[in-house]
Amino acid sequence: MTIEITLLGTGSPIPDPNRAGPSTLIRAGGQQLLVDCGRGVLQRLAAAGAGASGLSALLLTHLHSDHIADLGDLLITRWVTTFTPDAPPLPIIGPPGTAEVVEATLRVFSRDIGYRIAHHDDLNAPPPVDVQEYTEGQVWDRGGVRISVAPTDHRPVTPTIGFRIEHTDDDGTASVVMAGDTVPCAGLDELAAGADALVHTVIRNDLIEALPQQRIRDICDYHSSVAQAAETASRAGVGTLVLTHYVPALVPGQEEQWRALAAAEFDGPIELGNDLHRVEVTARR
Ligand SMILES: [Zn+2]
Ligand SMILES: [Zn+2]
Repeated sequence: MTIEITLLGTGSPIPDPNRAGPSTLIRAGGQQLLVDCGRGVLQRLAAAGAGASGLSALLLTHLHSDHIADLGDLLITRWVTTFTPDAPPLPIIGPPGTAEVVEATLRVFSRDIGYRIAHHDDLNAPPPVDVQEYTEGQVWDRGGVRISVAPTDHRPVTPTIGFRIEHTDDDGTASVVMAGDTVPCAGLDELAAGADALVHTVIRNDLIEALPQQRIRDICDYHSSVAQAAETASRAGVGTLVLTHYVPALVPGQEEQWRALAAAEFDGPIELGNDLHRVEVTARR
């Protein structure tokens, strides 16, 4: 019952030469779940040995541009690289508003979709999708993998959700929680309770608050700092804390600075690093 976490993109809205936009690949029980689809996601998926056509589902924490920047690329590329006839639609699970965003994205590419249907005999319909909108509850139960959702707090961005992914086999149940962008909140505390790993987006308030642009400083009020993410991990009693979505970009050589800020509030293992950093999670019991 292992769950493998691959940080595909550890960046933020600010383009960085070395970090793709926010997205994470979860592999469990033979399934591949993509959480968010930021800038460059398909290149990072390829580097991780995966691809759009092999995804079991797309999970969206919220509809901020950095988390959905490459949704169009994902939908079109999955469509043109799926060669099995009558392939099932891509399940897309996100907060209310997701269906509108997916429909609008497909509309943006309607000319491309028309060209390809006209050109290829075996493409007769637009990319098939199955969008499901949730703010709480169990949303997936297939082949030993269960996913549940709870509301997070990233206001004024609303609604936003976190995901708890559990993989059960004869040896037990491993669990990973994807917090997304959020300040500390009861919804996330409950979702993360006892999880084997918590993947949390973080910002360095100490660095951002010193910047001259108010618009940049604004981001502090709806994200968790490194210390706050670590406090959430402590309160929820999680096994491993995985930090991602570094704002500002984590400068190579400063990893221990970030780790120390988290370690002051959380006793367990702390994982952080570059794009494609992998963490294997097993049940602690
Ligand atoms: Zn956001
Ligand atoms: Zn973000």
